[in-house]
Amino acid sequence: MSVARFWRKQPSRYNLIGTQCSKCKSLYFPPRELCRKCKSSKLAPHQFKGAGKIVSYTVIRVPPTGFELLTPYVIAIVQLEEGPRLTTQIADCDIEKVSIGDKVQLAFRKISEDGKTGAIYYGYKFKCVHPHLKEMQKKS
Ligand SMILES: [Zn+2]
Repeated sequence: MSVARFWRKQPSRYNLIGTQCSKCKSLYFPPRELCRKCKSSKLAPHQFKGAGKIVSYTVIRVPPTGFELLTPYVIAIVQLEEGPRLTTQIADCDIEKVSIGDKVQLAFRKISEDGKTGAIYYGYKFKCVHPHLKEMQKKS
């Protein structure tokens, strides 16, 4: 099955599924169908554990339409334990204490709510893992 077909068949909003190169084992998220390193097109779906750390972040205080209830919130670049980086919202954190290197874990959360239709959208976010303990964590 091609990666694209696999991707369409998966409830991708509820799984952190990327791809892995069958040749050089490079991992990708979001999924790619062509390996950036060895140019191989033999990539297989790969489910990530969902653990990572913050490598960069910004606090959003003026939200786009539909996100008003959430402000202020944190958007961060998270590096997964397996290597790939992704941009995501950070939930359940003290925005005054968020810092680079914080450990985060995948969590499914309400992303936005459409006031007119009442529709609620869910997707992935990451939440802080023991943010108050970060001083005790050794740097990696
Ligand atoms: Zn490769």
